[in-house]
Amino acid sequence: MNAISSFENELVHLRAVGNLRSLHPLEHDGPYVLQHGRRMLNLSSNDYLGLASDEGLRAAFLDRLTPENFLMSASSSRLLAGDFPICGQVEELLAGMYGKEAALVFNSGYHMNVGILPALAGDNTLIVADKLVHASLIDGIRLSKAAFCRFRHGDMEQLDMILERSHAKYRQIIVAVESVYSMDGDKACLPQICDMKRHYGNVFIYVDEAHAFGVLGENGLGLAEEQGCIHDLDYICGTFGKALASVGGFIVCSRVVREYLVNRMRPFIYSTALPPLNWMWTLFLLRQLKDMKMRRRHLANLSAVLREALRDAGTIPLTSTHIVPLLAGESNQAARWAEQLQYRGFYVLPVRPPTVPEGTARLRFSLAASMKGKEIDNLAQNILEVKDGI
Ligand code: PMP
Repeated sequence: MNAISSFENELVHLRAVGNLRSLHPLEHDGPYVLQHGRRMLNLSSNDYLGLASDEGLRAAFLDRLTPENFLMSASSSRLLAGDFPICGQVEELLAGMYGKEAALVFNSGYHMNVGILPALAGDNTLIVADKLVHASLIDGIRLSKAAFCRFRHGDMEQLDMILERSHAKYRQIIVAVESVYSMDGDKACLPQICDMKRHYGNVFIYVDEAHAFGVLGENGLGLAEEQGCIHDLDYICGTFGKALASVGGFIVCSRVVREYLVNRMRPFIYSTALPPLNWMWTLFLLRQLKDMKMRRRHLANLSAVLREALRDAGTIPLTSTHIVPLLAGESNQAARWAEQLQYRGFYVLPVRPPTVPEGTARLRFSLAASMKGKEIDNLAQNILEVKDGI
């Protein structure tokens, strides 16, 4: 069989088991999307604060643009001619927000996760990751020269056992976790991991705040702020492409680590920098982030309402965030529920293996501060009806 025929066979198989992925062109209208003439509340976006759909913000930003500063390309990497003054402004602001020495911005959260670990983790390193960390972290770990093991999702006892067993054998151990898990919507217990770091000495903590940055913490800095452990974490990473309505990834860290990454991190060195226009938009939003408390509070309230309404449905793991999963089990079941909810005006997609473990296909409801209480009540009612086959 030639390669193309084997690709075709695999696609046929993916379709048969309900795991075929496809693209869905959508028009956007605030918190709604339009597809084939149907208007649906968008529950599949990571626009958690509702900033991406806020036309007022866009209008205010457009007022600042001139033909001179409207630069759509950096035209080279940061290390060549792509390091515009605004890059330093964004990084200084970020470092200051966290009270850390330095920050470095990357082209995306994916670049961040595939680049940082291979740069920091050499031969004599063990990376210990939560079983459910994002694919980009797994790819970064695979690209590194470090030894690697995983602990059961959120199982602090198992993590402690691994550290106890291994800490004397390696120069450094990097514990890699997400703060809010993208597919389960639950939170890591960062203070417990920080206690282990203090105990073992050679442990460094890498936390990906992709789904918490902007959303959690008094100033929107994420779970590390909410749990009061910013200063104990070595590598706090985040993305601008979700709550911040922009694009890019970042790390806040020490000055030495920043300089080391500039010299050793391949996706940073070998890729064209983000366009200056994008840096301007990021800066514009970052400056307002701490004052977006009302949006954070409203989102937390909406999330509590949905979780409470679905509690009796019995299939929701007890999450405490704006990401609310509904377990379906088999992929075809998740696909059926998603289709029925779309028909009823709710744009939700099935999340299937390999994104989640086999047998745990689900719907993932991503809430946004641009939604209204009555839309969430209506959503909850429809979810229960679809689940009960009404
Ligand atoms: N980390 C996590 C936990 C993610 O969920 C994602 C994207 N879904 C990324 C990193 C990648 O970020 P980006 O979309 O900015 O590439």
